[in-house]
Amino acid sequence: MPVETLSKGDKKAQFLVTDSHFSMLNALRRAIITNVKTMAIDDVTIYTNTSSMYDEILANRLGLIPLKTIPELEKSKKEVVFSLKEIGPKVVHSGDLKSSDPDIVPVYDNMVLVSLKIGESIDLEAKAKFGDGSEHTKFTPAHVFYHFYPKIEITKENVKNAAQIAEKCPVNILEADGGKLSVKKGQISRCILCKACEEFAGEDIIKISSDNKKIIFEIESWGQLSLKQIIDEAFDSLKEEAEAIKDRITK
Ligand code: SF4
Repeated sequence: MPVETLSKGDKKAQFLVTDSHFSMLNALRRAIITNVKTMAIDDVTIYTNTSSMYDEILANRLGLIPLKTIPELEKSKKEVVFSLKEIGPKVVHSGDLKSSDPDIVPVYDNMVLVSLKIGESIDLEAKAKFGDGSEHTKFTPAHVFYHFYPKIEITKENVKNAAQIAEKCPVNILEADGGKLSVKKGQISRCILCKACEEFAGEDIIKISSDNKKIIFEIESWGQLSLKQIIDEAFDSLKEEAEAIKDRITK
């Protein structure tokens, strides 16, 4: 199964997979979403909350804050507790949470939790634990999806409204040079197969389809784990599941 890296940053990557079936990539996608463990706030004790936000909503917002996760900590069963004590006027952010472990902190400091008016206050304690996406989506480490490789056929050399057709593309990968319409160099994999260009111009000018033998796999980490950690852990969990099935069959 040849894999080519189309783009790779700290949190986002795009791979081109050929000679594979989409069910294989779907298995990887599902393993990432449901099997990879991360840490998230799961148990909140609210001592004071005189803000206009209900306790339940505040607790829910705390749970959805991505936390930097060290997978090795799971075995140690070490408890990580966050405390938050604030008085208004103040906009309280994720970065205001005080962690009992300096390595387990919110990935982003600037997530707004609650806005306190003059004299309003909150005082709470929140415990984080390991979990996976099968328990709650807050533990999911990434946004991950796949789609077939786009095929864009431009069949006319010169079109009157090339610039207008190019403007229809929501990801801006089409360009017009006078009446000549083309796909920007190296940008075809960014096509989202929306067919906006085809619907506007007509199939006789631009035809959009996909190559089902080539699949683009895209992943964006929420920041709890690195892309490598997420993919490694997902493959490990798939191997474990395959071994468990093999054991059941051979017993
Ligand atoms: S199908 Fe959509 S994304 Fe692809 S080139 Fe046409 S307008 Fe752009």
